[in-house]
Amino acid sequence: MKILVINCGSSSLKYQLFDMENEEVLVKGLVERIGIEGSRLVQKKNGDEFIIEEPMENHTQAVGHVFDALVDSENGVLSSLDEIDAVGHRFVHGGEKMTKSALIDDEVKEAINEAAKFAPLHNPANLMGLKACEELLPNVPNVAVFDTAFHQTMPAKTFLYGIDYKYYEQEAIRKYGFHGTSHNYITKRAADLLGKDLSQTNIISAHLGNGSSITAVKEGKSFDTTMGLTPLEGLVMGTRSGDLDPTVVTYIEEKENLSPSQMNDLLNKKSGVLGVSGVSSDFRDLEEAANNGNQRAQYALDMFTTRAKRYIAGYMAEIERCDAIVFTGGIGENSIELREEMMKGFEQFGIKIDKEANEVRGGEHIISTEDSKVKVMVVATNEELMIARDTQNLVK
Ligand code: AMP
Repeated sequence: MKILVINCGSSSLKYQLFDMENEEVLVKGLVERIGIEGSRLVQKKNGDEFIIEEPMENHTQAVGHVFDALVDSENGVLSSLDEIDAVGHRFVHGGEKMTKSALIDDEVKEAINEAAKFAPLHNPANLMGLKACEELLPNVPNVAVFDTAFHQTMPAKTFLYGIDYKYYEQEAIRKYGFHGTSHNYITKRAADLLGKDLSQTNIISAHLGNGSSITAVKEGKSFDTTMGLTPLEGLVMGTRSGDLDPTVVTYIEEKENLSPSQMNDLLNKKSGVLGVSGVSSDFRDLEEAANNGNQRAQYALDMFTTRAKRYIAGYMAEIERCDAIVFTGGIGENSIELREEMMKGFEQFGIKIDKEANEVRGGEHIISTEDSKVKVMVVATNEELMIARDTQNLVK
């Protein structure tokens, strides 16, 4: 079975084509600047790049070029589009209705539209990719995989906010959590690596990248997570503020005479480690700047690790027994220094990092000592594979 996985942003589209026989990625690609001058598709196969530079005014045109690239006689991997058995789409917000991945029908589309009020940039963009596939591959089933779905097992005590209950009842304002596809993948991999039944696996999954979230997993299910109604809550991220006293928001709005959407922009795109450091949202740049004595870059890094510690420790208490702390995402997989820093202070609970074992990037590794009370791991995440697997299971 061949499955195409599509992840659509407002002006970009990432794709991977899987052969599910052996879960091999046949080809992957990225389209950028959709609807903007300079549209460009870059497809990668065995290290070779195939580039299409043509105007792409909308997602339908972009998907059309993805299909051209897939069947290109020299650079493609398919002889015909008929070989695609199904398409898996990443959706950011599924609201309370979408508790797992689903074959797309009218009811699912309605749920996606309903949840779009909380993801006004993402859900409509994700839907554009779907619409393009429906138009261009009318006989191929489409599956939706939601970033929020894995977290729908959270109990009310962790998903409710401390505000008038009517806002939950009337507006569905609550914590939803994101990166669910990644946390789900990490939980399953961790259970395998621990040799435990999924239903008995308790872990802390730390997905640390440009966007970061930490999830407490109890008995294989999401129990609590740092992101909230939107991906803005929780850790200090590349450009997102993470947790704040809400008064900070109303104060700055009034003081600078900002509209809610300008404030939203400030909190999502100009805050986080970028805002604090004034240097970059990229952690490699921050580490370099801090090593060269930039105080604000050092503050940003320290804020990031301190808040991560706070959540990891708190979540360990919430789930009562923790089998493993797992690091993933660009930072979690690659930053040896930040992993070491985040685990400092956990020695008092019998958790010990093996410095040599920690000298790894990516892959799957145990980085704690033999006698550490809780295993600490690095596991490279694979959201696309998870989407492909869910799609296969639903169309089989
Ligand atoms: P992601 O959003 O998961 O792709 O992660 C992107 C983030 O990972 C960026 O902030 C990168 O700077 C960070 N990252 C990637 N490689 C490294 C590395 N070797 N050391 C520190 N941070 C890294």
